[in-house]
Amino acid sequence: MSEWPIGVFTSVDAGLGVRLDVVKELQIPTVQIHAPHQETRTPEQAEEFLGKCADAGITITAVFGGFEGESYASIAETARTVGLVPEETRAARTQEMKEISDFAKLLGCPVVALHIGFVPEDRESESYKNLIECTRDLLDHIAANGQSLNLETGQETADHLLEFINDVERDNLFINFDPANMILYGTGEPIEALKKVGKYVRSVHCKDGTWTTGQRGVDWGAEVALGKGDVGMENYLKTLQEIGYTGPLTIEREIPHDREQQKADIGQAVTLLTDLRAKLLG
Ligand code: MG
Repeated sequence: MSEWPIGVFTSVDAGLGVRLDVVKELQIPTVQIHAPHQETRTPEQAEEFLGKCADAGITITAVFGGFEGESYASIAETARTVGLVPEETRAARTQEMKEISDFAKLLGCPVVALHIGFVPEDRESESYKNLIECTRDLLDHIAANGQSLNLETGQETADHLLEFINDVERDNLFINFDPANMILYGTGEPIEALKKVGKYVRSVHCKDGTWTTGQRGVDWGAEVALGKGDVGMENYLKTLQEIGYTGPLTIEREIPHDREQQKADIGQAVTLLTDLRAKLLG
């Protein structure tokens, strides 16, 4: 694969991504996919989806886990409901994430990814220590499938994410860097964060956002079309170049309620990234 192939976040039947027909129409060569619902994670579905990708010349670069009951309605709701962090669902979701890893293996995909949730700040707390144990158990299953796990950024500061990765002590745990999330969640200036976590970055999202006009970390910022927010796309790509990242540039545009606008914004993002890539890679 050439350096910085364009990609897009795609949904089969769950999640906020675009449909595969849009990816095909826009001739985008790579996708990350949101894992389909449990009942559709079958060998038959995997084969059918792989066939469609092969026909369109599309490579699957990561499979993202997501769970029933997750809500991004507010930052507080996200903290309460998302990922492996909520204790009531931690064991069941860890098990489901193993099944998602197995489904990703059927797709021939070496990377699974996840919003793990708001990692508890107190590293001495029982909840944090148990989360470390669950993550190790999950990573060992993923390793047996020949895969790594990339954690989505944004719900922690860069420093706390690094502490967590160090505490887990496994060599197949990496980062999917999303600069807009750092802004939307108010967890830090994205370029500075990217420089800090650079050596762990194995996949990225190209998404843009504006800081909240309310209280950072309490009120959402706004997700906007690529190039229209506060990330600074040229600076972002330059920094990816500095840290030696050569993988896919996966566009994310999370407005599934407006499919026409989503498609138009992704088309414009492809143009922006293609132009910047030509400028920076020469
Ligand atoms: Mg993202």
